[in-house]
Amino acid sequence: MLSTGLSEIKRHLRTHRLPHIWCPGCGNGIITQAFLRAVEALCLDPDKTVIVSGIGCSSRVVEYLDFDTVHTAHGRAIPLATGIKIVSPQLTVVVLAGDGDIAAIGGNHFIHAARRNIDLTVIIFDNFTYGMTGGQYSPLTPKGERTATSPAGSVESPFDICELAKGAGATFIARSTTWHAFDLVHLISRGIDHHGFSVIDVIAGCHINYGKRNQRETAVKMLRWQKEHGVPIDIFRQLPEKEKKDLFPIGIIHSSSRPEYTDAYTKVARSGLNE
Ligand code: SF4
Repeated sequence: MLSTGLSEIKRHLRTHRLPHIWCPGCGNGIITQAFLRAVEALCLDPDKTVIVSGIGCSSRVVEYLDFDTVHTAHGRAIPLATGIKIVSPQLTVVVLAGDGDIAAIGGNHFIHAARRNIDLTVIIFDNFTYGMTGGQYSPLTPKGERTATSPAGSVESPFDICELAKGAGATFIARSTTWHAFDLVHLISRGIDHHGFSVIDVIAGCHINYGKRNQRETAVKMLRWQKEHGVPIDIFRQLPEKEKKDLFPIGIIHSSSRPEYTDAYTKVARSGLNE
């Protein structure tokens, strides 16, 4: 999967839409490349793969991907993807969206998609901020970090989005970072391959509107921070509680199996129609 060449990735891009809008060094490009490597690894048919995004820097990704794509309203990527999946369960449906989009205005949709265990894969471009609008804090911004709306440090406790997904019923949950780019390809592949609601939380860098306020004003500093703070889940679980502070686990956080929503829905709909 890691041997996928750039030409194989490039054929999935709408090159006429390039150059992209992202700042040099933004983590969005690394996640996009990892996603396309996963598409290649799984031999996904572009004509049977739908990608849905919301609003924000990361959600602009769908403009560059040569699949059936929908760039929908802020926070509404998951309900739109849910509708597509229910009407056409044979399609692979992936949501690509930012942390503000998924965890704030879209938070209600996120927990209910997890509860239903609908077969969607949600890849969160988790840069702890609303990058496009100047760097406000999101529900995933670490406590104490400085943002445009918390210039002295955020006093809010963030969600652990992986634990939130687990509590709500998601059946595949993983976390990685843009530093761990090769592992990320594997985790995205596993998530797409999983039959049920999958969440891949990808810690990414926005050095322009977030890092600059938190002593990580370059892309390199953002990547170094990810490398130093992401700990493989097996090691993380063995750490004393006080040593876990400021660190986060990476890898497969949770994997389980239970009935998938469109399977159950189709079965009930067919039996109801036959009565
Ligand atoms: Fe990326 Fe931040 Fe620039 Fe948006 S503002 S493109 S998130 S670096």
